[in-house]
Amino acid sequence: MIRTREDYHEALFSMRGNVYIGGEKVGRDDPRLRPGINVIDVSYELARKPLWRDLSTQRSPFDGKEISRWSYLPRNPYDLMQKQKLIRLAARRVGGCIQRCMGLDALIALAICTKEMDLTMGSRYHERFLRYLSYYQSRDIDGCCAQTDSKGDRMKRPSEQPNPDSYVHLVEQTKEGIVVSGMKMSITQAAYADELIVLPTRALREDDRDFAVAFAVPTDTEGIRLITRPFAFGGGDCRNTDSLSRFGVADSVVIFDNVLVPWDRVFMCGEWEFGRRLALLFAASHRHSYCGCKPAVSDILCGAAGLAAEANNIEGEEHVRHRLSEFAGIAELAYSAGIASALFGEATSAGVFFPSMKYVNVGRRLAGSIIYQEFNMLTEIAGGIAATLPFSEDFTAEDTRADLEKFIVRNGELTADTSLKIWRLIEYIGASPMTAWHEIAGVHGGGSPIMETITLSREYDYDSRKRLARYLAGIDEEYDDSDDLWSEPTFGHSLIEDTRCGSVNGSRTRVAARS
Ligand SMILES: Cc1cc2nc3c(=O)[nH]c(=O)nc-3n(C[C@H](O)[C@H](O)[C@H](O)COP(=O)(O)OP(=O)(O)OC[C@H]3O[C@@H](n4cnc5c(N)ncnc54)[C@H](O)[C@@H]3O)c2cc1C
Repeated sequence: MIRTREDYHEALFSMRGNVYIGGEKVGRDDPRLRPGINVIDVSYELARKPLWRDLSTQRSPFDGKEISRWSYLPRNPYDLMQKQKLIRLAARRVGGCIQRCMGLDALIALAICTKEMDLTMGSRYHERFLRYLSYYQSRDIDGCCAQTDSKGDRMKRPSEQPNPDSYVHLVEQTKEGIVVSGMKMSITQAAYADELIVLPTRALREDDRDFAVAFAVPTDTEGIRLITRPFAFGGGDCRNTDSLSRFGVADSVVIFDNVLVPWDRVFMCGEWEFGRRLALLFAASHRHSYCGCKPAVSDILCGAAGLAAEANNIEGEEHVRHRLSEFAGIAELAYSAGIASALFGEATSAGVFFPSMKYVNVGRRLAGSIIYQEFNMLTEIAGGIAATLPFSEDFTAEDTRADLEKFIVRNGELTADTSLKIWRLIEYIGASPMTAWHEIAGVHGGGSPIMETITLSREYDYDSRKRLARYLAGIDEEYDDSDDLWSEPTFGHSLIEDTRCGSVNGSRTRVAARS
């Protein structure tokens, strides 16, 4: 089933009130949440557009019915590429973050990890997870991922924290389920998602056993409080209805206060040995998603810079062309890393096809390290007006309108109305609260840069590079590059054959690659 925007609202607005903003308890219909809800609406609307349906939807592995790609687990490199493409194309329609990838990345991580836990520990989590997945897919649920714990003292492990609630943890097990307490932070769209999917945030030791919990709950479950910080391109002013100002985001500190999670929603309980694996699976899948959304941010910045150059009548200038080509390079290199990660990915025991850790980490690293430079390039081309543009009301008020209509036009080919729309867009992108949100998300979202360094230390063969240097220096006579010689994309020819098959039983579904 593909939900309509109205179905999503109906479920959302009938939830128990547990959202807090600015010192008061508010309903999910609070106008400050609306910009974030508008983003999720777009994800539902796109899935119903005929042109988008092929990209936005898939067939359920359980009953063959149409489901959203936001809940579909990739089975082959092509699926991963479609996921990445959907994220890029959807994200750029809403200002750079479509927000639904977090839930999908959490599902992917759980699918793989529950299977691996069952295979090595004899547990029965995977079947339980698949039942949850089927529920999630058949209702076209909007889930967010609550991985990041508040973490307290960064140098102490979960079990060493003076405040045990620094990490979400098991309080007790009952016949009905598990009881958990603790705090997660920076959880995007928790205040307007249907479900919270909760994962551990780091590697755990035996002492941290109680912190090895993974589960899913509706966001309004008894005992959950969402202390929420909304942001919007238009500064949260709901009178702004022009395109980008409608969109925004809200992130929450999520308090779990003795929350009962029924057993059929528990996917890890005490398996500390798998804490690291589950945390990494989510992080890597999310870095693959970044290889889609980060190019979307660059696309938006590139377009805005091009438009600002036109409004400034400097479009043909050398430095403008140079900057635009830098945007192109950043966007497409990060996107290419995502594609490479799909082509060199691996089939997992759960049947989910997972991107190469190496390529998702280098893609995410590039995208994150260069984010402030990209915003700077927009500022260079646009000039200072983004920070000093008068309010919209001054462009319509009797006393000031005539002056401002003349003031705003720099390129005689553009009307005052078009010029104002361009500069307002530049303000939203380059000088609004969302600017800082995107910059900081670019650095830390999906894991801080140090996490990419740590993962690359394991995934990247630095020693072979050193041996290469020894060979080039004449220290060693031979250089063994057989690993690289044998390295090939994983899909071989089967994807091409499957794609040619076209459809199964008249449906649009592509057959999963058999390799
Ligand atoms: C806009 C935004 C949206 C987000 N959305 C989500 C979401 O939807 N779901 C979710 O789960 N998370 C989300 N996050 C959280 C994100 O994953 C974290 O910000 C990220 O993992 C870094 O964690 P932190 O912010 O606690 O920083 P920290 O981990 O505190 O990092 C700060 C610094 O301390 C260093 N440091 C930390 N621990 C150690 C240590 N033990 N030893 C040495 N150095 C250390 C780090 O390397 C870094 O330099 C979001 C973040 C942002 C900014």
